[in-house]
Amino acid sequence: MNDPATICPKCNGPLTELQGGLRHCAGCGFEGEAPPAAKPRAFGSSKTAFWILLVAPAALALGSFLVGYASPQSGVVVGFAGLVSGAIAAIYCGCWLGVRFGRTDGARVAITLVLIPAIAAVNFFIVCAGCARTLQF
Ligand SMILES: [Zn+2]
Repeated sequence: MNDPATICPKCNGPLTELQGGLRHCAGCGFEGEAPPAAKPRAFGSSKTAFWILLVAPAALALGSFLVGYASPQSGVVVGFAGLVSGAIAAIYCGCWLGVRFGRTDGARVAITLVLIPAIAAVNFFIVCAGCARTLQF
C-alpha cells in the first residue's frame, strides 16, 4: 500500500512515520496529524467475513461429501447447512462486491442484483455436487 502523505507540507522534505501513525519531518520539525481512519463501510469493511462466507458453502459441501461416507444422515445435515450458508453468502458477498466495485448507486445495485443469483447458483451447484453421493441421486 502506498502512503499518500509522505512529503512534508511545509518544506517538501521526506516524512517519517512514527508510532501511532504520526508523521514527523526531520528537516523542519513538522509533525503531521495521524492519518484519518479508513472510512467504515457497511459491506466493504470486513474482508475476512467476505472470504469466510465465500468459501463456507464449498467447505460445507466437501464436509457433507466426506461425512456422508460415514453417516449419510449427518451428511445431509451438513449439506443443508451448506445450502443455507450458500444463500447467506450469496446475499452478503453480492452486496459486498456491489458496494465495493460500483462507482454509482445504480451500478452498486446492478452489480449486487447480478451477483446474488450468480453466487447463489454456483453455491447451489457446489452443494448439490457435494451431496449427490450422500443423497444417492
Ligand atoms: Zn518539513
